[in-house]
Formats: sequence, C-alpha cells, structure tokens
Amino acid sequence: MKIKQQTMRILVVEDDLKVAASIEKGLNEAGWSVLPVHSAEAAEAAMPGQSFDGIVLDLGLPGKDGITFLKELRERGDVTPVLILTARDGIENRVDGLDAGADDYLVKPFAFAELMARLRAVERRTKGRDVTQITLRDLDIDLIGRTVTRNGDEIELTQREFDLLVYLAQARGEVVSREMLTRDVWKISSRATPMDNIIDVHISHLRDKIDKPYDTRLLQTIRGVGFALRDTP
Ligand code: CA
Repeated sequence: MKIKQQTMRILVVEDDLKVAASIEKGLNEAGWSVLPVHSAEAAEAAMPGQSFDGIVLDLGLPGKDGITFLKELRERGDVTPVLILTARDGIENRVDGLDAGADDYLVKPFAFAELMARLRAVERRTKGRDVTQITLRDLDIDLIGRTVTRNGDEIELTQREFDLLVYLAQARGEVVSREMLTRDVWKISSRATPMDNIIDVHISHLRDKIDKPYDTRLLQTIRGVGFALRDTP
C-alpha cells in the first residue's frame, strides 16, 4: 500500500522492563525506531534535541508519575502525540490523562496490533493531513476529492462507506477492530451502544462495491478480531 509516510520514531516511557522491551521489539519489527526509557525523569533527560513522532506513556511510574510528566510536557508547549497506557481498573487515570493532554489511551493488557493501530491513528490525526492519495493495487482513494476508483472505474460510496474505507486504508493493512470503528468512524464512545451489526452491514456494502466485481479481494474479515484492507491473505 502506498502512502506518503515517514518511519516513526517513538519514545516509550514504561517502567515495566518486559512491557517496554516487547513494545520496542514489536515496533522495531514494523520498521519504527524506538527509544525506551523507564522513568519520566529519564524521558525528560532524553528529549532535548531529539524529536519524536509519538510518546507511549505508562501512567504508573517510579518518581514523577505519567500524568505530571504529561502536564509539564504540554505546559512547555510540546505537542508530540501521547498515547497513555493504563491498568484495566484505572478509568479515572484515563480521564485524567486525556484531560492532561493525551491523544489516546490503551488499557493494559493490550494487543500489540492495537497499540500500532492506535499510534498510527494518533499520528494521522496530528500530522497526516498532508496525505492526499492512497493506492492499494488498482484501488485509488483521493482524500481531497473524496473519490474512489478501482481499475479505473469510478466507485460511488456513501459518506460513511468512504470514511470507513479511508480508515481501513490508513491502517495500512493492520487489523482494525469493531471497537475502533465505533469510536473513530462512527464517533461513538459509549460501549453500551451495540454497533457491531451496523458496522457489518456497512462493511458488506463496501465489499459489494470495491471488491465484488474484481478478481482480488482487498477487504478482509478477520474472524473474531475485525477487518483489514490489504492485498495479501
Ligand atoms: Ca508502571
């Protein structure tokens, strides 16, 4: 999939060495560069003179806690996207984190694919505005004109179908969960709203339009996980 996009450089602030190492390993495998540090103080020492595309921030840290680190970061005018990691029972921490200027959060334990997808989503929201065109095989998405063609045929999509397609395309082949679509495409944050059927109907309509008439299936359903737009099985 062709998207104008540079390699990301991520600062990981996490005192759990195992978690930090696994994030580093996974992001490295994806071709991203990672600087892992194990405290807020170490992060602050590492930051001057370096630029990061994103910060993965654990909230429970020895010494200065993650929220304080984040507040001070924003007070300095640093707008680097921040994805916070919180414990499952840390709902209040999550709210505090968002209030303090975090761009998104992830509840531990998390699936690595979700971490990558969230980081990419955060990056897109903050700096992806210069991407104008996404191409996957013979599928072309024009983000400015909001038009889609496949094999040169113009494909008419509803607004929602277009947004859904763009979200999947911007995930660059990563699996996107129904929860992420609910939050980011439908903009519904309440988990009480059952959206799965609505999402599945839209996916089905989208598939009829962009895939059905063509030889190669691009929109894949990953059972029990979600969906991915890619040209490899
Ligand atoms: Ca911790």
